[in-house]
Amino acid sequence: MNIEGGIDSIMKRIGVLTSGGDSPGMNAAIRAVVRKAIYHGVEVYGIYQGYAGLISGDIRKMELGSVGDIIHRGGTILYTARCEEFKTLEGQKKGIEQLKKFGIEGLVVIGGDGSFAGAQKLTEHGFPTVGVPGTIDNDIPGTDFTIGFDTALNTVIDAIDKIRDTATSHDRTYVIEVMGRNAGDLALWSGLADGAETIVIPEADHDIDQIISRLQRGQERGKKHSIIVVAEGVGSGMDFGREISERTGAETRVTVLGHIQRGGSPTGFDRVLASRLGAKAVDLLLEGQAGVTVGIENNKLVHHDITEVLQRKHSIDLDMYRLSQELSI
Ligand code: ADP
Repeated sequence: MNIEGGIDSIMKRIGVLTSGGDSPGMNAAIRAVVRKAIYHGVEVYGIYQGYAGLISGDIRKMELGSVGDIIHRGGTILYTARCEEFKTLEGQKKGIEQLKKFGIEGLVVIGGDGSFAGAQKLTEHGFPTVGVPGTIDNDIPGTDFTIGFDTALNTVIDAIDKIRDTATSHDRTYVIEVMGRNAGDLALWSGLADGAETIVIPEADHDIDQIISRLQRGQERGKKHSIIVVAEGVGSGMDFGREISERTGAETRVTVLGHIQRGGSPTGFDRVLASRLGAKAVDLLLEGQAGVTVGIENNKLVHHDITEVLQRKHSIDLDMYRLSQELSI
């Protein structure tokens, strides 16, 4: 029976882990999983260090209080790790043995597409698993937003705002390399939000001659500075900056924002998203669903088959890319 006298769940005990790269809001998702499960009278076990802890049995019971005071904290209280052994059948079998040893009947995996590949394997071996998309890259199909993207976006915006002040004072061209792995979302959204002159993303071809003539047009009409946002998926910001500097003769500075983009207190948007997705994952497990990922599409909670999600290619909003070009003429 649930806390408020509702219907019994078929599962008595579930597990939760975070895996791959951390992202702000993962803690809010863990909290939602734990509280929603306990609300339904289901016990929750936290698995530490992702799949590495699953294999080694670093598994501990969580209570309501275990997730107190974490909703506003970046990182993940369960820690995360990358684990090559889990990519092997033997590693996966060891993980399932541990889950059985602890009497865990279903698992919530919070992470990116690598973590989802692990979750898919568990489901294939008959262990019910639900994936929650947590990554700053926003590169997971089946959801408009991943947990952590909005926070990272605001971190990048804050950094570019600061760089803009000094760019204006010194009359320079600034190249800023932002994270996102093979996805250009962080670069596109931050570039649009910051009025960057040029945004270079892996999903759209770029023409260096065009970029240079755009910079020169800006200089001619007296622009004090130029900001170019380059997604890491395109290549090195350093190389890009060197080429711009050589070809225009303009003083060019390169900033690689790096891991500051992964930390920090999650924004309100990410906390709410994480709370909704974490709770939805528990609902699905308790309804007997397995091998699915949760997401948000047009502000509605959705779920999709995990194999389909892994097969689909992430796409970017090319209308938004065109808009960024139109607005930065
Ligand atoms: P992310 O989840 O952020 O994309 P990774 O790609 O590093 O991060 O994946 C996290 C972990 O998920 C890996 O270290 C590994 O333990 C597990 N994993 C990744 N790919 C597979 C796979 N094909 N089969 C089983 N486990 C996998």
